[in-house]
Amino acid sequence: MTKNIKEAKRVYMDYAATTPMHTDVVQAMIPYMSGMFGNPSSGHSFGKEARAAVEDARVQVASLIGAKVDDIVFTSGGTESDNLAVKGIAYANRDKGNHIITTSIEHLAVLEPCRFLQTQGFDVTYLPVDKYGLVDAKAVEKAITRRTILVSVMYANNEVGTIEPIVEIGRIAKSKGVYFHTDAVQAVGHVPMSVNELGVDLLSVSAHKLSGPKGVGALYVRGGTKITSFLHGGEQEHALRASTENVTGIVGLGRAAEIANGEMATEPRRIVKLRDRMIKELFDRIDGIRLNGHSKVRLPNNINVSFDGVEGPKVASHLDMAGVAVSTASACQVGHKGPSHVLTAMGYSETDAHNSIRFSLGRESTADDIEYVMEVLPPIIDKLRKASHR
Ligand code: PLP
Repeated sequence: MTKNIKEAKRVYMDYAATTPMHTDVVQAMIPYMSGMFGNPSSGHSFGKEARAAVEDARVQVASLIGAKVDDIVFTSGGTESDNLAVKGIAYANRDKGNHIITTSIEHLAVLEPCRFLQTQGFDVTYLPVDKYGLVDAKAVEKAITRRTILVSVMYANNEVGTIEPIVEIGRIAKSKGVYFHTDAVQAVGHVPMSVNELGVDLLSVSAHKLSGPKGVGALYVRGGTKITSFLHGGEQEHALRASTENVTGIVGLGRAAEIANGEMATEPRRIVKLRDRMIKELFDRIDGIRLNGHSKVRLPNNINVSFDGVEGPKVASHLDMAGVAVSTASACQVGHKGPSHVLTAMGYSETDAHNSIRFSLGRESTADDIEYVMEVLPPIIDKLRKASHR
């Protein structure tokens, strides 16, 4: 029994939930798990070699997003980066105002800190999106008041892959003198970006979405930004994030950033080709299918579709039995019951939102993977449709 499961074909198409670590990332991390174990704050040679590794990683991450090296703060992941950005700006700038603007399709790592801040006397505007998941930059402009201190709009949505008009919003925020944060967790390492071209003051990164380890990330904080730490203790990370640095994880993030940077001219293009091929096959071979999100301004690796009359979780579960891993909503929203807040914000009915599934591709994805999925998926949809008509 177990033997059969082991030998069965397995295809991973859930890279937006997490990615396997690149073997070079693993190799880079190994020395820092044993021999090179020093504390980067120690003055002796063990500490110095750990410090050097952390600072090399800072250069690698900065170079991936076109940032100044000193503007990178290492954190425990995307969630902490988002929390630090939103709460850190809110508390540090309370004297200027108490209004924050965000969108209704953000990841919970932004939405929940915003909801928390509402219990602390802050006002939050949750901007709507259109049927493709796009935020209107003009709506951001209209929502800004004299009390607005922060605009937080994600670079690309984790469920439907829609890429937001960050450059336009950045220009607006700058002209109004309001801090601008973007949660770029799904985009960093997958599309080229530069913090200056984007006009952002803060940008969140998570290592495990770009072939790096889990539990480590970074927040870009433009020099001169007024921001408060919420982890008090030592002076690590410019006193913005107390605690001994996760040296091994940071080294992994740095190496992952370097690899992504080196492959930026080729890998996203390869993934886009695979994605478009899979979308075409899906539409050619299955009736009653709809692509969720924008067809053009979309992450290279995201395919979110709904099949008429078939529940997403049932499709995902049958695919899983056939060895294919996909997702029905954000993996980070485990425990969050009900339809996707992203699709409902895009105007979907509860039923339509429930019918969606997300395929997300990555470095190890191949044309063979797509072929296999296209072999097993049409009969699954057929079977489920027949069963629902009984
Ligand atoms: N923001 C977005 C858009 C994400 O997709 C995720 C994870 O799925 C996060 C934040 C949280 O990142 P982490 O898992 O590193 O805390």
